[in-house]
Amino acid sequence: MHKTLTFDIAPNQQGEYLTLPFAMPENMIEFHLTYQYLAFKELPQDVPGGQFIGEERRNIIDLGLIGPDGEQVGASGSDKPTISISARQATPGYAPRPLTSGEWQILVGAYKIAPEGVTVTYDLEFVPKERKLLIGDIHTHTIGSDGVLSLEELATHAYKQGLDFLAITDHNQTVSPKVLQRIPDVTLIPGVEWTHYRGHANFLGLEHPFDEPFFVDSEDIRPRFQTARDRGAVIVVNHPCDESCGFQFDLENLPFDLLEIWNGPMRESNLRAVGLWQSMLAAGKRIPAVGGSDYHRDNLFQILGGPCMGVYSLSNSPEDILAALKAGHSFITYAPKGPSLDMTIGETQMGDTVPWSPDLVVQITARSLNRGDVIRAVSKADSQDLFQAPADGDMALSLPVTEAGFIRIEIHRVFLPGVPPLPALISNPIFFPKS
Ligand SMILES: [Zn+2]
Ligand SMILES: [Zn+2]
Repeated sequence: MHKTLTFDIAPNQQGEYLTLPFAMPENMIEFHLTYQYLAFKELPQDVPGGQFIGEERRNIIDLGLIGPDGEQVGASGSDKPTISISARQATPGYAPRPLTSGEWQILVGAYKIAPEGVTVTYDLEFVPKERKLLIGDIHTHTIGSDGVLSLEELATHAYKQGLDFLAITDHNQTVSPKVLQRIPDVTLIPGVEWTHYRGHANFLGLEHPFDEPFFVDSEDIRPRFQTARDRGAVIVVNHPCDESCGFQFDLENLPFDLLEIWNGPMRESNLRAVGLWQSMLAAGKRIPAVGGSDYHRDNLFQILGGPCMGVYSLSNSPEDILAALKAGHSFITYAPKGPSLDMTIGETQMGDTVPWSPDLVVQITARSLNRGDVIRAVSKADSQDLFQAPADGDMALSLPVTEAGFIRIEIHRVFLPGVPPLPALISNPIFFPKS
């Protein structure tokens, strides 16, 4: 996306700092700005034996950029004809920063202006964010609580496992986003596992979801959750059906965003959580599901990213990843190299809503299937096996939507010979309310 702006400067404006506003559109990942003006005038003259072309400085225009909050993004004098900004990188002299939508301003420094004035041309290039699949684990512990790896060791481990992002969720210990930003390669999301004798919940995205101590001696934990919600935390109710630390508070009265239906290896308590989620969906609730490894250390049953989230995010920033999780633009897969899924109707994707009509058809793409894997569609009152993979590979299929409600996908796999199949992937639904 390009936009060209011109700016006329009169000779009497020499020595002034002028500004040229422009609108930064929503959801941009990079911004490039190039400017041109008549800097030199050529002065050809005939000299004995040939022609000499002299150059005379006519105009000097300085460049700077001001963000929508009025903050200086950077200033480069007349040195650089092109500058670039993104959340992670910027031309030296400019600060990396998110491209917040709204009114930005170009600083036009009229240092030297020719007697006839000058026209400056600015070319603005906006690069939009693109939906892409990222894989990450949103439930992990470090030596900050009862894990065995330091933050740096955990991030390196995640990178080697092929994870794009990781939420750090130590028990009742928060971590500063400033510390996390210093670790490259993997997007680290600040979090805390609020850990109470009667239930656990992850608060993601903030260093301080609430100010009070974690413990609450009464039944009423709602104020903690409400404060965190008001401050913008994404709240996950963890392992709700676990035998020893299931969630015993009343979910009906609590503000939360996501339900962890898959915690660590697939087992009975996770299958009960899937059942709980299905009953909530069937009752008309739209709570997206998530999974996380609850990683503490490597052992026979626990691996980092087992399970992990596949998230369709607009960028790898913590904000975009959390927004995609909260919207349910995601699926849970048993391992970083497990199957992946996309499910769309045009622009509508998992987690979205489209009013039901009889002509709707869902497009499903499942990748990295193993021979024998079964793709199953689950709706409000029904579940239907759609396909069994005859060999390892990928599958694209179309599924007509026959009734209002929702459709979600599960991929079932026989992990060990003689053992019944278990979910290898669980997607979030697309919702089809009665129009
Ligand atoms: Zn827990
Ligand atoms: Zn945990």
